[in-house]
Amino acid sequence: MIDLSALPSLRESLETHGLLANKGLGQHFLLDLNITRKIARLAGPLEGRMVLEIGPGPGGLTRALLEAGARVVAIEKDARFLPLLNTLQEASGGRLEVHLADALKVDEAVLSAGEPASVVSNLPYNVGTALLIKWLTGPWRPQSMTLMFQKEVAERIVARPGDDAFGRLALIAQVMCEARIVMDAPARAFTPPPKVDSAVVRLDPRSDPPEPSRVAAMEAVSQAAFGQRRKMLRSSLKALGGADLCEAAGIDPTRRAETLSLDEFLRLADARLQRAN
Ligand code: SAM
Repeated sequence: MIDLSALPSLRESLETHGLLANKGLGQHFLLDLNITRKIARLAGPLEGRMVLEIGPGPGGLTRALLEAGARVVAIEKDARFLPLLNTLQEASGGRLEVHLADALKVDEAVLSAGEPASVVSNLPYNVGTALLIKWLTGPWRPQSMTLMFQKEVAERIVARPGDDAFGRLALIAQVMCEARIVMDAPARAFTPPPKVDSAVVRLDPRSDPPEPSRVAAMEAVSQAAFGQRRKMLRSSLKALGGADLCEAAGIDPTRRAETLSLDEFLRLADARLQRAN
């Protein structure tokens, strides 16, 4: 195991470099290595694996990922952290690469040099959902994702049909992946503490995800259905075929979006594709 104990503590490193959190970049740091080690365990096994870490910041989670044996490609938007991350890079025995970039714009396939890689991150809250959608629907697919979100967002990702939080995010996440909350993190675990609690979600891609055309049709249906979630499907889906579309999919048109299962949404997507052909 790599020994990073000679490095100054995260708190000391932040002080030495005069670094204060920038809230505009969603900066809430995990400075307790017991917490970051737990996240690395939940993301594991990591020995010899490639991990993309978004927003390493001062590098608390990065240290834990390196200790667990991962090769880490870190993408950080805030240049102020580079000197601190360079020190970690020197101690990493060649297992840490740092890129100064916006994670929304990077090409993960290029950064991972075509190798399979997992994503592990204490995500910046302001772009967390957009990044998740990118990895769920984009051309590059991670091997697994272990991601810290605001608790409310985590609950929207794992919500089941019938739950109040069940909506478009749960649908796309669960059609593409198995998704579960694996850890709760109270606001006091972060420096500075955010206003709300957080949770870590682990997402493991399904071995037989639907074709991109079915996913796109499902997204169109769910956008319309959840756009007017209190209405019956025959009216919320009117522009896409309303009651006829529901009947073609074998679904009662008087039902509402939040009661439909993942499979029923895919049946509506298939009916929509058939009508379009
Ligand atoms: N990983 C560190 C930790 O756990 O202590 C920091 C997590 S902090 C919640 C989010 C990090 O993401 C910050 O370092 C922030 O600068 C960075 N960040 C924000 N927006 C980003 C973006 N679009 N691309 C890459 N990094 C970003």
